[in-house]
Amino acid sequence: MPLDGQTDDSASSLAVLQTLDELKSYYRNFTWESQLWERVGPNRSPYRVMVLFGLSARTKDKLLVETCRGFFHHFPNSSSLMKKWAPQDPQFRLLVRNGQLPFIDSWCVKLKEWGGDIPADKARLIQVVGVGEKIAECVLAYGWGIESLPMDGNGCRMYQRLMGLPDVAKHWRVVDIRDRLKAIFNGHRLRMERLDISMVDIHESLRLHSQLVCGRSPNCQHCPITRCLSRRLDYLGCGPSGASGNLWREWRDLILEQQESEHQNEQLFPANLQSGDCRNISGNPGK
Ligand code: SF4
Repeated sequence: MPLDGQTDDSASSLAVLQTLDELKSYYRNFTWESQLWERVGPNRSPYRVMVLFGLSARTKDKLLVETCRGFFHHFPNSSSLMKKWAPQDPQFRLLVRNGQLPFIDSWCVKLKEWGGDIPADKARLIQVVGVGEKIAECVLAYGWGIESLPMDGNGCRMYQRLMGLPDVAKHWRVVDIRDRLKAIFNGHRLRMERLDISMVDIHESLRLHSQLVCGRSPNCQHCPITRCLSRRLDYLGCGPSGASGNLWREWRDLILEQQESEHQNEQLFPANLQSGDCRNISGNPGK
């Protein structure tokens, strides 16, 4: 049964479409993944995407960036991991938390099994310990540029509020929300094309808005979404901080191939686009 008990042509589909339109306009200077991929896609590393998102569970964004920097210093690519990773080496085991070791160990084993190649195949990616659908969809989207929809807790919360649904964690599975949004995307491809929104951009727009406006305490007074069924206060106009700009820049930089990252970063994220105005964020969410 669909999440909201309605068909894809229902009012809920139209609410999603209108919301995406409004978010696209609200964050009009933001560089969405589809735009970024056009410029840096060939330099993206599926290996790094897998490591970054594999280590992201229950890790704050700032710590994740620091952990990945240390990890990629020792293991910048799949061949270095296969060659040097020794599960019992105390030096390497300190690079990640104990709870993250099974993921790295399993990732190394699978890479060897696959001859160092990272498959653009969700069924194979989820064979790695700790990798579920969300991480696999991230690897497909950010590593391979394949049409995918990761959806994290932030994006799901935003969808839940938009639809006036009960608490996602208690009532809905992420996979149901993902499938629902994919169905809406596939059912309205022409409109998505007109809005210049790719599938992964849906994830990013809901995530960004959830980070900046619709957080644990929703800032409804500064939220432009007209069809939200959970609105608490009238819209007064834009005003919240765009504080996550730097963070999006950091993780996006980390998933580029090593030799290109610094140069690409300078090109993609000029310093004058780190304004606190939420409408003037350029290029930039966390995992
Ligand atoms: S109106 Fe409020 S609850 Fe609805 S999306 Fe905006 S911030 Fe979230």
